[in-house]
Amino acid sequence: MDKNEILREDKQFIANTYARFPVVIASGEGACLKDCDGKEYIDCASGIGVNIFGINDEEWKEAVKAQIDNIQHVCNLYYSAPQVELAKALCTRTGCRKVFFGNSGAEANECAIKAARKYGNTRYGRYEIITLKNSFHGRTIATLTATGQEEFHKYYDPFLKGFRYAEPTMDGIFSCYTDKTCAVMIEVIQGESGVNVLDKKFLKELEKFCRERDILLICDEVQCGNGRTGYMYAYEWAGIQPDIVTTAKGLGGGLPIGACMLFDKCENVFGAGDHGTTFGGNPVACAGAVSIVNRITPELLLEVQGKGAYLIKNIEHIKNVSAVSGLGLMIGISTDKPPRYVAEKCLEKGLIVLTAHNKVRLLPPLNITKGQMDTALKILNEVISQ
Ligand SMILES: *Cc1c(COP(=O)(O)O)cnc(C)c1O
Repeated sequence: MDKNEILREDKQFIANTYARFPVVIASGEGACLKDCDGKEYIDCASGIGVNIFGINDEEWKEAVKAQIDNIQHVCNLYYSAPQVELAKALCTRTGCRKVFFGNSGAEANECAIKAARKYGNTRYGRYEIITLKNSFHGRTIATLTATGQEEFHKYYDPFLKGFRYAEPTMDGIFSCYTDKTCAVMIEVIQGESGVNVLDKKFLKELEKFCRERDILLICDEVQCGNGRTGYMYAYEWAGIQPDIVTTAKGLGGGLPIGACMLFDKCENVFGAGDHGTTFGGNPVACAGAVSIVNRITPELLLEVQGKGAYLIKNIEHIKNVSAVSGLGLMIGISTDKPPRYVAEKCLEKGLIVLTAHNKVRLLPPLNITKGQMDTALKILNEVISQ
């Protein structure tokens, strides 16, 4: 199929849910993507934080291929080694006790919501969950309900009961808190709403507030997890200890996977039959994810911190940039230009960036090179400063 045919038939056969840019991505290498016409792009999106070690990564491909040669799917009525290996790696790494695997961020969050409700309902008759304004937790009805943004709440009424939306301050939390509150769910760094890093002091106070009341603290690390910020999980940066952590995107290195990590309090919240999914913990996705987790070493995390600092410092100097937010390789840029315009102009010049609400967002693969960062900075400068 040539490009025009793909664009035409996409419009004809695929549901109109995406405002796509007119590019057909065909292949790549590391943080370099190639379209079907052979044009190259520096990738500062990594498929929305998914291709955490870029394209054509040998180590990840090896792990995935080896598993495909064995077996492609095992239903959850039986045991399978890659799932156990990944769960063990995550538990060892974070101190969580048990992991439930789904296939996406939304599913990981669904699991967290169910875990929190079962925990609260069975102990105290509590079921309300406080989430934050400007949060994003997914597109299923429950995670959409959890998402604290009005624009996502059009069309799909009625939503679930039992969610309240707080400003990211303790006053905000107290004004939503009732004797029915079972959990508070946050993104340490809000991705979709503009790479908003939550205040460390607020996070510390929130942790204490939750602990004192046996309210579960859930960190949605779907986007900011898995080394993205220069920490394995962003809650480590904040110095807080959640009761449930969800992640997805980068964990699979390119294959669909979601994980809901249950810490001490929730270790045994689920019993057999309480929750499940057919594809969850797919052995191919898990084998790839094991190789990813094993590579997010302290050395790599330091490297990510250094790269992030380098990008942020240089972006701050660009004319017309009013603010830069973020941590590690999760960066939000505020400029006087509409983000979509910046993304389109960058694309023309061979740079792929994302938008997030009113900001330009960068989520490059963690192995982006210095040369690629410099090219990206040059293009950003050309587009934003003119
Ligand atoms: C992307 C995202 C989700 C949803 O993940 P899907 O895999 O698209 O379902 C949930 N929470 C956060 C913070 C995200 O960035």
